[in-house]
Amino acid sequence: MPNETPIRVAVVGAAGRMGQEVLKALTPQEGFQIVAAVDRHEIGRPARELVGPNGPDLVIEDRLGPALDRSPADVIVDFSHHSVAPTHAETAAKRGASFVIGCTGLGNDDIAMLRGTCTEFKVSGMYVPNFAIGAVLMMKFAELAARWLPDAEIIELHHDRKEDAPSGTAMLTAEKIQAARTSAPRKLPKPFFKVEGARGGLAHEVPVHSIRLPGLLAHQEVIFGGPGETLTIRHDSLDRAGFMNGVRLAARQVRSLDGLVIGLDKILF
Ligand code: NAD
Repeated sequence: MPNETPIRVAVVGAAGRMGQEVLKALTPQEGFQIVAAVDRHEIGRPARELVGPNGPDLVIEDRLGPALDRSPADVIVDFSHHSVAPTHAETAAKRGASFVIGCTGLGNDDIAMLRGTCTEFKVSGMYVPNFAIGAVLMMKFAELAARWLPDAEIIELHHDRKEDAPSGTAMLTAEKIQAARTSAPRKLPKPFFKVEGARGGLAHEVPVHSIRLPGLLAHQEVIFGGPGETLTIRHDSLDRAGFMNGVRLAARQVRSLDGLVIGLDKILF
């Protein structure tokens, strides 16, 4: 790999918690060259001051377009904010770069815009709500279980600074469960709510409960119930470094994909 031409990457949201992990994870030894680090905070600050001596020798800059004009990239990796990710993808695509979006919280309109960007500028892109390989396996196992156990609920637990709820992973898991069911879930008696929302929210006919607490990172349980048995599938992200195998995989493979691909499972299985 080190003898191959490195994949040139611009990191967006580079000063954030995930962005800093990416600055450390996409190393020359792994076949990458980080050519720009963009954020709206920490502008002008050397990336190595943020992430240590193994980070790229770059300063944080504030605008993606000019950064790409100066230092062309093959791929942008975006961990900034869902409200700006589609615009960043377009900025990259206009310059022939593929995109890997890790921000969660993108809606249907955003996805449609990303698809349009891929078509218009003939680039490929990925939107990956969860880069943890264990979490992707959890969704795969949940899909398998839903064929036989249609009654399921999701509990997702995240750190208290997470803005969107339910998490992108919970939404995707619910969607996969609904699609995999071969029979309808049981109709429950109409609940009498002593506290509004006590039964969570319904995503794709799967109740989802979102917990936000300091001390947590990213965790999810999918609980299936059948007559006389339950099955619990649980995944825990314990450190942000745990997302980086998936980020490297996506950044390596995105350019060989066709159009917009959603989810790491499409390149794992
Ligand atoms: P964070 O707040 O620590 O970092 C976000 C960074 O983006 C900040 O430095 C902020 O200044 C920057 N930013 C915001 N708007 C910007 C803009 N318009 N232009 C440039 N930079 C901008 O958040 P985080 O914990 O690093 O998470 C970032 C995103 O990644 C969130 O959406 C989170 O849910 C998501 N996330 C995804 C995964 C995954 O596996 N896909 C894992 C963890 C977090």
